[in-house]
Amino acid sequence: NNKEILLDGHSIEECRMKNLTIKNIAKACDGQLYNEEFASNKEVTGVAIDSRLVKKDFLFVPIKGARVDGHDFIPQVIAQGAMTVLSEKKIENAKYPYILVKDTQQALKDIAKFYREQLNIKVIGITGSVGKTSTKEMVSSVLSEKYSVLKTAGNFNNEIGLPLTIFNIHSWHEIAVLEMGISDFGEMTRLSKMAQPDIQLITNIGVCHLENLKTRDGILQAKTECFKNMRENGVIILNGDDDKLSMKKIVEGKKVIFYGEGKAPKTDDLGTEYAKKSVFATDSENQGFEGMVTTINTDIGSFKVRINIPGEHNVYNALAATAVGMELGLTLEEIKSGISKAKTIAGRTSFNKTKSGMTVIDDCYNANPASMQTALEILSHATGRSVAVLGDMGELGEDEVNLHKIVGKSVADNDIDVVFAAGELAKNYISEIEKSGKNIKTYYYKTTDELVDEIEKYVEKTDTILVKASHFMKFEKVVEILVNM
Ligand code: ATP
Ligand code: MG
Repeated sequence: NNKEILLDGHSIEECRMKNLTIKNIAKACDGQLYNEEFASNKEVTGVAIDSRLVKKDFLFVPIKGARVDGHDFIPQVIAQGAMTVLSEKKIENAKYPYILVKDTQQALKDIAKFYREQLNIKVIGITGSVGKTSTKEMVSSVLSEKYSVLKTAGNFNNEIGLPLTIFNIHSWHEIAVLEMGISDFGEMTRLSKMAQPDIQLITNIGVCHLENLKTRDGILQAKTECFKNMRENGVIILNGDDDKLSMKKIVEGKKVIFYGEGKAPKTDDLGTEYAKKSVFATDSENQGFEGMVTTINTDIGSFKVRINIPGEHNVYNALAATAVGMELGLTLEEIKSGISKAKTIAGRTSFNKTKSGMTVIDDCYNANPASMQTALEILSHATGRSVAVLGDMGELGEDEVNLHKIVGKSVADNDIDVVFAAGELAKNYISEIEKSGKNIKTYYYKTTDELVDEIEKYVEKTDTILVKASHFMKFEKVVEILVNM
């Protein structure tokens, strides 16, 4: 029954993916098609690596994980209606077409690249050390005022998440906003070969992933690998207040737009003048938990806008979204409306009221020194006690102890009232807070579980509680216990 709804209210026929027939898929990933006599000439309707997500006429790509081998699910997905599967081994007595490949993960990327090339759609690639997901949400909110937008779901930004996101692009989409995250050299080249952005945005060059990339110049080099694989006439949009990004020499021969705070180019201690900004914010006003109000200025006019997400960094995300919106032909009215509708997603500074009336700021998804400092600044606007529950930050490389101390100092500078810290490196928050001599109550635990067992005893109904750590600390357990109090 072809009228049957498959995805997003669309029928099977509407879901067919441009030129992704079994034969073309085999060609795209240099695979060997077996059992061609069973193969349909129709296009697949979707691509999945998780057997539970396979729907009628999907391509299933089995991935070998540490515990589970996706190949074990091949008979099951065929029974579910998959049109074809990739496989790294020959399948005896199969009564369905399958494509033999050397490496299914590589094939996933090759097919995504081929599919991207079939699509007549504008792609916006978003990378940077911090704020990719937040910027992606803001950009998508703005572009949705005019276009049908496909955006990266959650944080699907790596070499598995990006191809899967590309496969979520269907015929009804006009724009794709893709988050691209990396932790090593070469990765960005592989991601951008798939995405081939028309517009490439970089939020900043911070201090994440120093384990592989070593220095901020290393990060800059790794991130800017993406410029090589942009579409012709591609446009680059950069944070002009970032000292590394505003060095114009990194982007020869392409249109570059810089955004940032204030009209005047920033200068640093050495007198180096940064790039000239064509989209810039003036009169930004921090309204604490209510969000930010700012005026955004462009070559074609200015507008005052309320950003309903707390945190000063959101001004940057709104500027980035303005630059993208203008590049894609939105009016300033549309851009303003899209900015004010943007929301945060769970785990990224999202506000929750608990049963007992506490406010919990859930930022447990991830942490690094920059986002820690931003979150602490937001917390400092609390009317009752400000309580920070902080865990270790990972992947910081050699300088990790010092970077934790910097965050500890930031706790003291923001006059936070109470701090719970958990983890090996989190000790350094406490030592720095004590050094400041400020009257801050501190509790330290070796592990997240110990903290979870104790925290209920010490928090109060009128508290505002920030929960933040790197992902591996599993601080969602802390959020869960607080929200249910
Ligand atoms: P990941 O590498 O985990 O995908 P990300 O780059 O997607 O991270 P976000 O999840 O958007 O980053 O943001 C993480 C935190 O950083 C947010 O909760 C917020 O506090 C802060 N943040 C958001 N945008 C910015 C920005 N432009 N500059 C600095 N900090 C930001
Ligand atoms: Mg992200």
